[in-house]
Amino acid sequence: MQYQRTVAERIEVKGEGIFTGKEILVEIFPAEENTGIVFVRADLKRRPKIKVEPDTIIGLEGATAVTDGTHIVYLVEHLLSAFHAMGIDNAEVRVHGEEIPIFDGSAYKWVRAIQEVGYKFCFTPKKFYRLKDEFLFKNGKGFIHFKPSDRLFVKAEILFNHPLIGHQTFEIEVTPRNYINEVCFARTFAFKDFIQEKIKQGALKGGSLENAIVLDEKGIINPDGLRCSDEFVRHKVLDVIGDLYALGIPLQAEVHACCSGHRLHIEALKTLYKEGGLEEVEAQSFTFVVIPKRAMR
Ligand SMILES: [Zn+2]
Repeated sequence: MQYQRTVAERIEVKGEGIFTGKEILVEIFPAEENTGIVFVRADLKRRPKIKVEPDTIIGLEGATAVTDGTHIVYLVEHLLSAFHAMGIDNAEVRVHGEEIPIFDGSAYKWVRAIQEVGYKFCFTPKKFYRLKDEFLFKNGKGFIHFKPSDRLFVKAEILFNHPLIGHQTFEIEVTPRNYINEVCFARTFAFKDFIQEKIKQGALKGGSLENAIVLDEKGIINPDGLRCSDEFVRHKVLDVIGDLYALGIPLQAEVHACCSGHRLHIEALKTLYKEGGLEEVEAQSFTFVVIPKRAMR
């Protein structure tokens, strides 16, 4: 039987918020079965709670957020990606600010934090969503395509007219091991002109070359270079895995995202959910075979 999991102990991390430029504390607490992932605005007096589900998630340009209509937590996607891939079903995330810190622009910090405390089981079968049918969602030149499966596969494809990027494709079966080895370290990327524009508008108060890969017309301006030549598309896979957790419970499907972003992913998931394209399944129990001790010698 695959059981639901939560973090084994409280996790505490602190880091800079890229939008506000503030130092933000995040505490992750173990949570009971069927809680799901719940964000708490711990900096506000009433400590409002926002549970991750299709009704509370919003896809923005360059970020994903959760909101109850009044309160908001920005930049939840890299933490959700780590939870989804590492099999964490239940957790309470107390955020002492309005955004999740960016760290190095990847999910590495979250993976390490989860690994350090480990996980524990909630003795209730794990739940998944499965597709009833294929589903395609298009918007301009981008699309996301879902096919039914009993596991989660994510394929991302990006196309940028830039000498370092061009056309890149990357695909994995999402398991904790594959995610840790192939995806979790891949950093987000942005173009220098775009960043300068956002700084001018006051939309980016934090951030430096420590938080993202920054590109100019010819290459990247980070002194240490790339972590791998296809780091860009690996980060896209990381983002897709995070956005898929907008459903609130893990997804089993073959997903192909092409030239897509957070807005498209979240719109697609909301539509899929509202149209009744998903069915909830419980992890099946394994058949245990008792082997007599004699036979094992
Ligand atoms: Zn990202």
